[in-house]
Amino acid sequence: MIIVLKPQQNQEKIDHFIQKLISSYDVTVNTWVGAHSTVLGLLGDTTAVDDEYIAAQDVVESVRRVQEPYKKANRKFHPEDTVITLPGGQQIGGGALALIAGPCSVESEAQICSVAESVKASGAAFLRGGAFKPRTSPYAFQGMKAEGLQLLSQAKKKTGLPIVTEIMSIEHLPLFDNVDVIQVGARNMQNFELLKQLGKLQKPILLKRGLANTIEELLMSAEYIMAEGNQQVILCERGIRTYETMTRNTLDISAVPVLKRLSHLPVIVDPSHASGVSWLIEPLAIAAAAVGADGLIIEVHNDPPHALCDGAQSITPAQFETLAKKVSQVFRTVQGL
Ligand code: PEP
Ligand code: MN
Repeated sequence: MIIVLKPQQNQEKIDHFIQKLISSYDVTVNTWVGAHSTVLGLLGDTTAVDDEYIAAQDVVESVRRVQEPYKKANRKFHPEDTVITLPGGQQIGGGALALIAGPCSVESEAQICSVAESVKASGAAFLRGGAFKPRTSPYAFQGMKAEGLQLLSQAKKKTGLPIVTEIMSIEHLPLFDNVDVIQVGARNMQNFELLKQLGKLQKPILLKRGLANTIEELLMSAEYIMAEGNQQVILCERGIRTYETMTRNTLDISAVPVLKRLSHLPVIVDPSHASGVSWLIEPLAIAAAAVGADGLIIEVHNDPPHALCDGAQSITPAQFETLAKKVSQVFRTVQGL
């Protein structure tokens, strides 16, 4: 349930009203203070709450029931966009297009450091690189694991780029201290125990949409993280399974404006896993920037034909440079900047 308070209310009256709600009903109250109004979000069992009685209270402007099962991720609970800001000042969702780039997998110190330097020079604000890899085949390269995370730390030390990398098991969390944004991959989007544990952290979580999951299921997975206290969730559209076989997945471009309408969380797009082929990355990245994505996560490799993972969809640093220029132009035009 959403309660919008009348503008310019005395704080004491608001506090008293919130206390009354908490003591009368089995609910918790989320307060969102905006420039023009204060919105209270009631979570829990609101069946006993009488809408008309609440609407008649002195401080109340309006009352609305929220039908959607996601509450904290819902834009109705938090009308303004959430902006994720890292200690180094890098942002996702602050009105600029955040570029996250790097190889599918960390392979060596030379590889990760050289890719990090190049993508930084082209405008990337974050470095991606998998250390724990979810592979379809148990015989395929599984990632450099702890060593890969150390190499990412070295690249971060050299370039200052914050690290975005995937966690596959909560047991590995102690290794993730120096990781800035923890990625939950498509295959783990509904690993609810993992989501709950990540919800206890105060670190941004990049949550990728599952291969066969709906937009609402993605929002419910975000809700799992947020319900535990961590409000820093970034949603990522990375393509879904359809009957189409020309591309690795089908980029659901409409998911971007739909998610941004339903939720206040930032939304980014991964054109690499969505398409599976390097020549499609640029047009899909441009499309994502045009429909209002807050960022892009792109696989860049210094030597794609010899990549240990996802070489076919990896672009070179030079291709990334061209792409970055084009997408920022499109983004600025569409945003009217
Ligand atoms: C990745 O980003 O490296 C990855 C494995 O992506 P996804 O979970 O979207 O398949
Ligand atoms: Mn990959």
